[in-house]
Amino acid sequence: MGHRIIFATGNEGKMREIRLLLEDLGLPVLSMREAGAQVEIVEDGRTFGENAEIKARAVWQCTGDIVLADDSGLVVDYIGGEPGIYSARYMGENTPYELKNRNLIERLKGAEGKERSARFVCNIAAILPDGRALHMEKTMEGLIAYEPAGAGGFGYDPILYLPEFGVTAAELTIEEKNKISHRGKALKAMKRVLWEVLKGKAERTEDENINCQ
Ligand code: IMP
Repeated sequence: MGHRIIFATGNEGKMREIRLLLEDLGLPVLSMREAGAQVEIVEDGRTFGENAEIKARAVWQCTGDIVLADDSGLVVDYIGGEPGIYSARYMGENTPYELKNRNLIERLKGAEGKERSARFVCNIAAILPDGRALHMEKTMEGLIAYEPAGAGGFGYDPILYLPEFGVTAAELTIEEKNKISHRGKALKAMKRVLWEVLKGKAERTEDENINCQ
């Protein structure tokens, strides 16, 4: 098994979260930059899982080791799952989220109650040193709010209302959000699987088939 974990992201905030979460695996956790693997990645997959795997595999190809990557976005049922894998690019990469959020609320005019269902989805892919891929996908379920609310978080957080908590994702603290978020849950689940893979290394045979979808 590899001696390092590399997370395929250029986002330092994400790296801090991920380091904290994975530190007790006992392996160094490096960003792409720290691993010297600044590869050009074209995210042309059709699903969150495909995009996460494209990113992880591109870095794995030039480093080996265990490489993780995530892909996430907002899925709104009433409008056929938009913006989905295009969440970052929706209405243009540089368009302020205030406008993107207003636009989505506008497109849900007439939708009531459960018709407003939506979720953040996060898929985390891990490529093991031998090239096998593992995936974990988790969601944070909610409803598109009638008005944006909250100043925390980022992106679409102010418009995902969480009925269980009575607030939007932007009204949670980072700690609260990490406990229940799509990304937090997917990372924790991936960590449990990696732990098993690392621990089981001595006892497992080479041809063992691991499928953690
Ligand atoms: P990425 O795959 O982590 O880069 O996320 C893609 C896009 O999905 C982000 O740019 C946001 O628009 C949206 N998104 C993903 N996770 C969240 C979240 O937790 N809150 C708000 N927006 C999110």
